[in-house]
Amino acid sequence: MDSSETTPLLSRPNIPVNHMYDEDESDFEDKANATEKILSGEYESLDYDGCENVLYQMEEKKKSVRETMVIEMLRWLVMFFVGVLTGLVASLIDFCVIKSTALKFSIIKQYVEKCVDKECMEIPLLVWVGINGGLVFVAAVLTACFEPVAAGSGIPQIKCYLNGVKVPHVVRLKTIVVKVIGVVCSVAGGLIVGKEGPMIHSGAVIAAGISQGRSDTFRKFDLKIFEFFRADTEKRDFVAGGAAAGVSAAFGAPVGGVLFSLEEGASFWNQALAWRIFFASMMSTFTLNVIQSYIQGIPWDLSYPGLFNFGSFDTTTYSAFEIPIFILMGVLGGLLGALFNKFNYILTKFRKRYINQSRDQVMEAMIVAIITATVGYFSLYFNNNCSPMLHNQDPNSVQFYCNDGQYSSTASILFQSPEDSVKSLFHESKGMYSPSTLIVYCLCVFLLACWTYGLYVPSGLFIPSLLVGAAWGRLVGICLNYIFPNEDWVDFGKYSLIGAAAQLGGIVRMTISLTVIIMEATGNITFGLPIMIVLIVAKWVGDIFNEGIYDMHIHIQGVPLLGWEPSSVLTNLSAREVMSHPVSVFRMKESVGRIMEVLKTETHNGFPVVEDHNPDLQNSSEDEDMSFGTYRGIILRSQLLVLLKQRVFGDNEAHGLTTKDFRDAYPKFTPIRRIHVTQYERENCEMNLEAYMNPAAYCVTDNALFPRIFKLFRALGLRHLVVVNKHHQVVGMVTRKDLARYKVTKKLWKVSVEELAISTQ
Ligand code: ATP
Ligand code: MG
Repeated sequence: MDSSETTPLLSRPNIPVNHMYDEDESDFEDKANATEKILSGEYESLDYDGCENVLYQMEEKKKSVRETMVIEMLRWLVMFFVGVLTGLVASLIDFCVIKSTALKFSIIKQYVEKCVDKECMEIPLLVWVGINGGLVFVAAVLTACFEPVAAGSGIPQIKCYLNGVKVPHVVRLKTIVVKVIGVVCSVAGGLIVGKEGPMIHSGAVIAAGISQGRSDTFRKFDLKIFEFFRADTEKRDFVAGGAAAGVSAAFGAPVGGVLFSLEEGASFWNQALAWRIFFASMMSTFTLNVIQSYIQGIPWDLSYPGLFNFGSFDTTTYSAFEIPIFILMGVLGGLLGALFNKFNYILTKFRKRYINQSRDQVMEAMIVAIITATVGYFSLYFNNNCSPMLHNQDPNSVQFYCNDGQYSSTASILFQSPEDSVKSLFHESKGMYSPSTLIVYCLCVFLLACWTYGLYVPSGLFIPSLLVGAAWGRLVGICLNYIFPNEDWVDFGKYSLIGAAAQLGGIVRMTISLTVIIMEATGNITFGLPIMIVLIVAKWVGDIFNEGIYDMHIHIQGVPLLGWEPSSVLTNLSAREVMSHPVSVFRMKESVGRIMEVLKTETHNGFPVVEDHNPDLQNSSEDEDMSFGTYRGIILRSQLLVLLKQRVFGDNEAHGLTTKDFRDAYPKFTPIRRIHVTQYERENCEMNLEAYMNPAAYCVTDNALFPRIFKLFRALGLRHLVVVNKHHQVVGMVTRKDLARYKVTKKLWKVSVEELAISTQ
């Protein structure tokens, strides 16, 4: 499919169009920009609108009330297991990270203590670099060589999935194995990453796996009772539950988890589903809680709801006069977030162009690991702030080059996992970190986290963002303390928390779910309003400059994601301008030869089924007003593939195909090149599509406007929408890519619209 072919024939006034992508462009900047003007054809849509064909209707009529209830019960059962298993996986990750990090730091601390007086400080450095390098090597090799889709947090991919885009391999068993091992190695390997984002992805994979009751990797394993769930719609509902369970396990935030699924995939929301998702979330934090209580040695003391919590903020309060300070911090968070995203954007484009071989990807991850370890080490050397030991029992206190009775604040912040560092920044007493330590630390973490996100290792962005924000937030606290000494309201922990929220909001730009996640993680509802204000301001300021980091990565990959709302600048477009024309259609009774031919030569996945149409005339006319027969329904490529494979030629009743045959083939249908029919069958057999097509599929008239089409796609999760004229004849076809290809960019106060081309696969 050539990009120019997919361009609708009618011109579009008011829109500066940028159709073509020039292959010869050699300059990096131009080429990278040009690639972004393409929507990747590689990504197919998921079908969230059920097919109500004759077979389905027969099945529904036969279904007893008991069967319906059993299916409903099974849905709850699946959600139960999704929650429990997500909680278990989270506990496993946490356990491994804690043990390996503790082991690593105890080894390094031993070397430091041995070498401090003997001037052999290069030895602990080498040990540190060696251990980190080794662990990151494992994570990078697994990711780059075995399952690249496990890289990063996985949140953009899950966001795409819930939005209706199939990202290849995203919910595979192999992906979760690589993700879990990889995230343990990258966190323990000292990279500035968190394990919370990957947890959301893991939850989603677990949900997809359990709900299908079978796996590509273990083909013999096949739970027939879950057969009913083998369809995109059902699977998506469970994936939404899994993602929520992941958030819930990561932050001990079950409500935040439900809202995360709502914010990222709101198109399919209904009460019953929300209730089940909430159940999965609750189960996941409960399971994690039980296991953690055993690990901590206090069985059934359920006070560890998440992998990460912010520690106790029970006694912290704020006054109304502090709100302007919070707003200013929100502005700073938005600005710093936009800067972070800009740097990461440049880096991602560079990576896409130059670092696309597995070997180079592993090398880059190793370089970052070594630099992270070295920077940490040298910042100890050059910034060895000594403070009097406040509480001797604190295991994080490291004496390093300080006198007896003192400890090095820089060493303390570095000799722990990033999560513990966030907590230290929130809760340590006022004198613990000097301003210079915080400035150096904040700067290093900002740059390193920016470089790290997008590396070929599983990595979350929440903790690094919180870390940067907590550091500058604490600095704000120190400044306020300087201006208003001896005032009780200047609580460093509070400003550190607000800074962390502002920075995270400025980078990811989520609002609803993030407010609740942070609220649940602090366990203090009083802070709801300041957090909300800070997140809104940070998003608002950040959005002036660029988009959130997840959306940015999604767009760089050319994924056809549909936003919440159609852009207001596109309201004047009509279906005629958006649709594709001419349309490949099939007749109700179509020859096997023609079906084979069309499926082989075209990449489309859906075809209108029509009456009164002569396909021989179709290609001979370039007429824009041409119609393609009276619309009767839609048939999917996947359905045709099953029919061809089962050789349903001629009288279909005789073959007795049921909806079960289609579910069994889901989700991997035999490709057309592997299906063989004889010459005789091609020429003489006909397929009757009437029983298999979806006669109730949505269609619009050619004068429908863009917002209506967009809402249909977004709210109903459509994959194909047929456009008909006033005689109910097919005139065009609209898919998600036709809508997603209008790229609306906001730079400062200027809004511009470009039309992207769709690449061949
Ligand atoms: P998807 O890839 O999302 O599963 P698809 O392959 O059917 O669905 P797209 O890849 O989104 O469709 O379509 C690419 C372009 O082809 C779009 O511009 C779309 O309008 C057009 N198109 C899709 N189906 C047909 C068809 N049957 N006839 C003509 N054009 C079509
Ligand atoms: Mg396609």
